[in-house]
Amino acid sequence: MNTKKILITPGDGIGPEVTEQAVQILKNIAPLFDIHLDLIEKPVGGIAFDLTGTPLPDETLETAKISDAVLLGAVGGPKWEPLEFSVRPERGLLKLRSELELFANLRPAAIYGDLVNASTLKAEVVDGADLMVVRELTGGIYFGNPRGVEERDGERVGFNTLVYSESEIRRIAKVGFETAMKRRKKLTSVDKANVLESTEFWREVVTDVGTDFPEVELSHMYVDNAAMQIIRDPKQFDTIVTTNMFGDIISDAAAMMTGSLGMLPSASIGGGVGMYEPVHGSAPDITGQDKANPLAMILSVGMMMRYSFNLTEADEMIQKAVINTLEKYRTVDIMAQGKTEIGCREMGEKVLQSLEENNS
Ligand code: NAD
Repeated sequence: MNTKKILITPGDGIGPEVTEQAVQILKNIAPLFDIHLDLIEKPVGGIAFDLTGTPLPDETLETAKISDAVLLGAVGGPKWEPLEFSVRPERGLLKLRSELELFANLRPAAIYGDLVNASTLKAEVVDGADLMVVRELTGGIYFGNPRGVEERDGERVGFNTLVYSESEIRRIAKVGFETAMKRRKKLTSVDKANVLESTEFWREVVTDVGTDFPEVELSHMYVDNAAMQIIRDPKQFDTIVTTNMFGDIISDAAAMMTGSLGMLPSASIGGGVGMYEPVHGSAPDITGQDKANPLAMILSVGMMMRYSFNLTEADEMIQKAVINTLEKYRTVDIMAQGKTEIGCREMGEKVLQSLEENNS
């Protein structure tokens, strides 16, 4: 049997609730693929600050570095908002991503089964839509220097820097093309090349990397148009590759077509250890009420199987169990007429049941 060491970091708010359900799925699916699990739980985010005075304790980081993958719930909440910027829960998450050199964030936005009616967009617009946003995660304006707020000529000025080196663009472009190769072989690179020199350079480098992937049909789109097109006609997209900030915004816009944040998984890859987490935050408004939708977290386990362990079949099994469960059961965020409303724990149990039925 093949042992996989997985760091579990449930985090804050609904993080522990959805993580508990995802871990059940992980424990169930692993033996089917001859995987022996070595699960280690460590704190991150606000809870880690409360315990140790830092949102990313050294022990958590060191364990992450020697693991095969990391499964993270969510961090943050009103309790920690007054904290100084450098020790806020979100800084812990950013530091973990950067220390693990997770420069590529993969965010699928697809419609699962008859969830088409949960979308705020018209069913005929979203039915069958299935796109993947590949976002650069460790560079660009979120990390560029100089940055800050200072006094200039008698008034305060805030500034950030959008900077990308050629190697940073090459490596994310490569992930974009490789992802497109595993999908429908269409890649849209999103930039603002008409205004920003750094993204004109982005376009030039992405085009050059594309010569190594002749089978992939590459197109370029300005970010403002991309935002519009995703809402107007999401089915035109297969894989999108873009910068850190544009990807942050575009992936949330794409997410909306699926109806709920509670359905969106993500993978962060690039370094040796992949990290898997739902897109949503810690949802303080529903914490502790057994109302959270655990499906984004469960689907993140599927992405771990696919991207860290190369087990496409395991991911497909999890997706199938989720689709089957949605035929009858819904958490409140995706509730629809004719379905039975259940809580977080029961949703986890139903997916587990469906997974077991499919394999019996
Ligand atoms: P949020 O994603 O936590 O919640 C937004 C809304 O969506 C809320 O109404 C919430 O109840 C709902 N929601 C989210 N996940 C859900 C789920 N699984 N099931 C059902 N409903 C769900 O975003 P927010 O309110 O802007 O942020 C709350 C906290 O989370 C903040 O501290 C923020 O910094 C943090 N945050 C963390 C992450 C992360 O850990 N990756 C991401 C985003 C926000």
